[in-house]
Amino acid sequence: MSMAEKDYWNIMEKFVEEAIDECFEKEPSLCRCPQCRGDIAALALNQLKPIYVSTAEGEVYSRLQELDWQNRCNLLFAVHGAIKKVASSPRHKDS
Ligand SMILES: [Zn+2]
Repeated sequence: MSMAEKDYWNIMEKFVEEAIDECFEKEPSLCRCPQCRGDIAALALNQLKPIYVSTAEGEVYSRLQELDWQNRCNLLFAVHGAIKKVASSPRHKDS
């Protein structure tokens, strides 16, 4: 069984990706290179409590596309903090 076929995952990863997309849309000056995007996602996810769900539950979550307000607050706080940190000292190579 490959990793892609595992029957559980951290739904927070999906919400972090969505929040980063929203921020990138609102702030065109942010760097979108894979290094910065990866750093933002990893920083934010390390601060957030994972929410593991089975694949069946995950389908329900992706339909609702919602978190309760407390988790949503935590999510946005973590993502905004990570974006600020990465933007102030990006690790990508200047070319
Ligand atoms: Zn970058």
